[in-house]
Amino acid sequence: MESQGGARHGVEVRGLGRIEVGKIVCVGKNYREHLKEMGYAPDEDPVLFLKPPTSLLASGSVLALPAFSQDVHHEIELVLVIGREARGVPEARAFEHVLGYAVGLDLTCRDLQKRAKERGEPWAVAKGFDGAAPVSIAVPAQEVGDPADLAIELRVNGVVRQSARTSQMIHGVAWLIAYASRYMTLERGDLLMTGTPSGVGPLASGDVARGTIERIGAVEIRVKDA
Ligand code: MG
Repeated sequence: MESQGGARHGVEVRGLGRIEVGKIVCVGKNYREHLKEMGYAPDEDPVLFLKPPTSLLASGSVLALPAFSQDVHHEIELVLVIGREARGVPEARAFEHVLGYAVGLDLTCRDLQKRAKERGEPWAVAKGFDGAAPVSIAVPAQEVGDPADLAIELRVNGVVRQSARTSQMIHGVAWLIAYASRYMTLERGDLLMTGTPSGVGPLASGDVARGTIERIGAVEIRVKDA
């Protein structure tokens, strides 16, 4: 499988060209209905975890399911592309650091994640495999405007699996940038994945998964066995 081409790993920002991606910071537990379906307490704090840039996959690519998992789940998410270094950024200034928005999938080996949770281990292998982060072409932030209430939907083979609005996030985009940048510096080219709504479920060989977010676009992958 090939990650998004060109020098190193990157995403295309419409009208601005390609930007090299550093780290991918992901937020977990940010939609109430998803907390419910995963059996988390309703008031649990969001969790942050990382995917490596090697997990990036261009929209339109084929995903080879990792041989070490029997249960790879789709999680559609709004993705922020960071444009300017953010360290300890207050919420009121958070949007100054957003270059653009994309549609992403936080693909997850649910079986490995479950085992990691039971053992108190990190989620790195459950979340960081090659192709675990399919991402669409990004749209410049000013073209999207306020991302606080956009329709977000994922279909597998044309059937709706996840459908929500970004207004259902527990913590909005500005809050998440402030929160993440307290713990680690966000650099130009870093991505921030903002959590998934409910309806997560498994992908199988032959499936076509297509995620869309209003005013941003679509990410689509075709799934095959390793
Ligand atoms: Mg997720």
